[in-house]
Amino acid sequence: MRDGARNVIIVGSGPAGYTAGLYAARALLEPLMFAGYMSGGQLMLTSDVENFPGYPKGIGGPEMMVDMREQAERFGLEVHDKNVERLDLSERPFKVWVEGEEFRSESLIICTGAEAIWLGAKGEEDQKGRGISTCATCDGAFFRDEEIIVIGGGDSAMEEATFLTRFASKVTIIHRRDVFKASKVMIERAESHPKIEIKTFKQIKEWLSDENGLTGAILEDPRDGSEESIRCAGAFIAIGHKPITGFLEGQLETDEEGYLVHIENTMTAISGVFAAGDVVDKRYRQAITAAGMGCQAAIDAERWLEEQHQ
Ligand SMILES: Cc1cc2nc3c(=O)[nH]c(=O)nc-3n(C[C@H](O)[C@H](O)[C@H](O)COP(=O)(O)OP(=O)(O)OC[C@H]3O[C@@H](n4cnc5c(N)ncnc54)[C@H](O)[C@@H]3O)c2cc1C
Repeated sequence: MRDGARNVIIVGSGPAGYTAGLYAARALLEPLMFAGYMSGGQLMLTSDVENFPGYPKGIGGPEMMVDMREQAERFGLEVHDKNVERLDLSERPFKVWVEGEEFRSESLIICTGAEAIWLGAKGEEDQKGRGISTCATCDGAFFRDEEIIVIGGGDSAMEEATFLTRFASKVTIIHRRDVFKASKVMIERAESHPKIEIKTFKQIKEWLSDENGLTGAILEDPRDGSEESIRCAGAFIAIGHKPITGFLEGQLETDEEGYLVHIENTMTAISGVFAAGDVVDKRYRQAITAAGMGCQAAIDAERWLEEQHQ
């Protein structure tokens, strides 16, 4: 540390952040982490993780994130459950503002992940968190024996629809095209499920509700504008994610979707600022790949810090 500046501050506490924290702590860099508004990241929203090596029987997402945190803290990662409001990357040490307090750090690892995209259809704001959700695991159980719709054509939509059949009397997948991003196996699983119907060439024009909550939606065919209505008590939007880079206020280069663009390995366009996980990765978006990148970022940061002191 120089003049009270940390060696490394990690922003975000998903698999990327905790893995970066573990490696940085074990390298004796005394890392500080700001865990953000959703401590533990996206896996806090899921029940079973079956594809993270080392868990032959699978593990609950929140349980895994608690384990990751505990493991990193055991080696000295300091975690504050607070959001980073702003950064100044114009000179080193970099400045980090959290709830009005200023922190300084020689290096930064940005692991702020991504968040779900909403449709923005008429009536959506009113029903957010009531009848309309982006997290089947969190809210599915509220719709026991009810009709539910899922919007989207990717793996998430298929996964959420299949999961929701545990509660719902019927699940209808609404997709605006007839081509799916989802993998073949996921589509087949959804298609063959007796409780799931798939409607293609349909998009949500408007959400319908009464004083008790969501009652349905008006669907529109994007090809000719024809409309039909569908009944549902719950709706789950699964149309993708956007990276959380707004707080960087354009100080780091992003692509048109907002993903951070790399210059070399995990180092961004600004020397000493590293990034890992879903905030840079729109291709894989997995816990294991995010964790792998977190490891890479911590090793890159460690080597970079060493070079600065030579
Ligand atoms: C419902 C669901 C189920 C999934 N299931 C699986 C699965 O079974 N297997 C699998 O491999 N992957 C799964 N994924 C994907 C996996 O969760 C992500 O790929 C992974 O979490 C990405 O990790 P990350 O560390 O990049 O970011 P995230 O997990 O998105 O974490 C981002 C972190 O950044 C923090 N943050 C954001 N802004 C700020 C800020 N300004 N200041 C401080 N902190 C901030 C947030 O609080 C959060 O902690 C699932 C995702 C979802 C949504």
